[in-house]
Amino acid sequence: MTKHLLVLQLRCPQCGACLTEGTQVLLDAHVQDTHQDGTVRLSAVFGEYTCETDLKLPEGAIVEFRCPHCDASVMIPSTCKVCKAPMVSLNLDQGGYVEFCSRRGCKGHALGGIGNIDDLMSLMNRMLDTPFD
Ligand SMILES: [Zn+2]
Ligand SMILES: [Zn+2]
Repeated sequence: MTKHLLVLQLRCPQCGACLTEGTQVLLDAHVQDTHQDGTVRLSAVFGEYTCETDLKLPEGAIVEFRCPHCDASVMIPSTCKVCKAPMVSLNLDQGGYVEFCSRRGCKGHALGGIGNIDDLMSLMNRMLDTPFD
């Protein structure tokens, strides 16, 4: 049985560069706690909050993300409903945007993982082109 994976095609809100490579989103990252800079590969799969990085990223660490192309911050002023960490916002290729939590291990870290369920459903519908009931 093959599971249909919903891979989000994400773009930088500033320069429009495509940030999704395969099933991962590539972003430059700065870890607040340890002042480390590096690269983080987030899962681009809808609802997954795994990530790969060469940084030391303890559970609970907050990461500031930047576009690897134009170096602009992709952080936004709103905070995570679950843990109050700053949120990240990236544009969707299909239109609209996704926001996710910048804290490692938070469930809000999943792309589209939390938020308004109606928004999520309409997002799913747009992405899959087949309406859910
Ligand atoms: Zn950019
Ligand atoms: Zn959070």
